[in-house]
Amino acid sequence: MAKAQICDLQQHLEVTQNLAKKRKNDSMERSPLTDRKINVETVADSNKNQAQRSRLPQPSLKRMRLNTTVDNIDPAVVVKKSVCSAASASSKGVSSRPSIGVRSQYGVGLARAIHGTEARSRAVNCAATVAGVIGKKPRVAVTAPSIVQTAAVGSKKRPAWDLKGQLSDMKVQLGNMKTRVCEYTSKLEMSELQSRQLHESMDQRDKQLDAARAHINELQSNLKAVELLLKDREVELAKCQDENTAMQGVLENKLKMKEMELTQKVTCIEEQQSTIAEQRDMIVERDERLHCAEQERRRLHNTVQELKGNIRVICRVRPLLDSEREGLSEIQNVQFSASDEKVIILTKSEESHTGHDRKDEFKYDFSFDHVFQPIATQKDVFEDISQLVQSALDGYNVCIFAYGQTGSGKTFTMEGPDDMTCDTKGMIPRAVDQIFSTAQELKTMGWTYKFTASFLEIYNETIRDLLVTKPEKNVEYEIKLLNNKSKQLHVTNLKYVTVTMKDQVHNLIAMAKANRSVAKTAANDHSSRSHSVFQLQIEGSNSDRDLQCTSTLSLVDLAGSERLDKSQSKGDRLREAQAINTSLSCLGHVIMSLSSKESHIPYRNSKLTYLLQNNLGGNSKTLMFVNLSPLEENFSESLNSLRFANKVNNCVIGTAQVNRK
Ligand code: ADP
Ligand code: MG
Repeated sequence: MAKAQICDLQQHLEVTQNLAKKRKNDSMERSPLTDRKINVETVADSNKNQAQRSRLPQPSLKRMRLNTTVDNIDPAVVVKKSVCSAASASSKGVSSRPSIGVRSQYGVGLARAIHGTEARSRAVNCAATVAGVIGKKPRVAVTAPSIVQTAAVGSKKRPAWDLKGQLSDMKVQLGNMKTRVCEYTSKLEMSELQSRQLHESMDQRDKQLDAARAHINELQSNLKAVELLLKDREVELAKCQDENTAMQGVLENKLKMKEMELTQKVTCIEEQQSTIAEQRDMIVERDERLHCAEQERRRLHNTVQELKGNIRVICRVRPLLDSEREGLSEIQNVQFSASDEKVIILTKSEESHTGHDRKDEFKYDFSFDHVFQPIATQKDVFEDISQLVQSALDGYNVCIFAYGQTGSGKTFTMEGPDDMTCDTKGMIPRAVDQIFSTAQELKTMGWTYKFTASFLEIYNETIRDLLVTKPEKNVEYEIKLLNNKSKQLHVTNLKYVTVTMKDQVHNLIAMAKANRSVAKTAANDHSSRSHSVFQLQIEGSNSDRDLQCTSTLSLVDLAGSERLDKSQSKGDRLREAQAINTSLSCLGHVIMSLSSKESHIPYRNSKLTYLLQNNLGGNSKTLMFVNLSPLEENFSESLNSLRFANKVNNCVIGTAQVNRK
């Protein structure tokens, strides 16, 4: 038994020596750090293998542990094995479970922690770390050669009989063994400590790994959520794309419809354009016909005027004023025919020459173009003269004047009352309104007009400009022929105002009225003893047909025709009366001369006739209002007025000519 043990020990010694030699050789090649690494278990395994190869009896594991010396261990092999083991374990992904020692723990830990290629490299690193940790404690590796040496010394061969010596050697060996066991124990403890530290480190790593896993899980769940979201979005996108496609289809349909509509409309427009062209031709044709009709109307209008006579007379009897109604319910001495609007009868009852109780009634019948009773309105009267006003735009000179005694209603008829309203405005404002509205209508037929207004009065054979509020002193107003060819008259220094709107003319009329009434207070009802003349010069042109026409519309409010008692009149009154008489009788003479077609017409005998010569001649249309007072006391003046008017009414002056170029 002892022999066998000794043999064993010798064998071990040889093995150890070989190993030591080998180690010595190896240490030349290996790094000192690696040399120091020792694995108890690997040593044990190595021994075991050797034992298996040996024919010697196998020591038990426990014995092996006790018997195994450090000399048997090749640190390089240990480290190499440890690393390989860890790496292979990790590469397989399975934990190799060695029976004891650090390696198993590392192996398990590493295998658990590391996967794939990355895991492999991590495992290698980890093993290296472990080796490093072990390398820090090189005590065992350093002491090993000394033990080997001791064993070598102690194995000095003793004779077979020296059992005691052998025993003591064995005791020494045992002591050595014990020492080594102690060393190994302390080393084991240290390894366990390191193992624990590694455990802790691994736990930490595990925790980190868990955290990383949790993080990965979280990221994965996030990824899933994102993927879900992405899927949702994809679904939405697909839906949107579907909708878009559908919408595109709808829009394309609509577009097609619109295009069709457009095509239809274009066709329609083309049709309409051709219709318009046709209608334009028709309009041109109609314009031509209209123009011919207009010419015909003017010709017929002129014929009617001629038939009526060139000088027309309209009689108007004013109503009783409120102040005149006292004691009188109705007009006494003026009678009208119920059936004939042209007749007026003036009656006068005088004491009969045959008997004192009887009264002879005298009747004076007159017939005019129209007799307006007191109830007639301004509108009624204007309707009768509007045709004549129309003639002014057609190129005829037109003159309308009011004749009658003071207070018979001349100014009322021509201008309107002082408190004029739309209903009561007189012939002048109405004529102006009609001129402007008709001119506007004639625009459509190519006619454009220029209007020039003037307003003057003739008092005591002197002219005064009613459109100038403060006349300059010593201003001469002379009536002159503008040129011999046109025979158009012109008053020097008179204000001629170009007017484009009727309101402008109304303002001028109002100004003239105001200027006249100023004079009225200054010269004791001066207006009744002066003639006022409003003139509107009309110049028309039709560029389409190259036509021009000029005319003058004259509207005259004559001075009172009453005869003054010459025996009682003196000074200014006498001169006034003479002037009025002269001008009015001149007017009568001119009309009579025209009527009897005398070679010389005495226009120059008064300023009035001289100014109105173009409006009283054969080339003009004249209308006279004879205004009558309804009062019996004015009978003789009314009779005189009617007689004068009758003379004028019986005049046939001749055919008026249109002033056309
Ligand atoms: P004349 O100008 O001839 O002197 P007016 O025109 O001044 O006369 O008239 C005298 C008065 O009679 C004025 O108060 C006027 O308002 C009034 N009058 C004249 N004609 C009419 C009429 N047709 N209707 C109502 N009042 C009238
Ligand atoms: Mg008057």
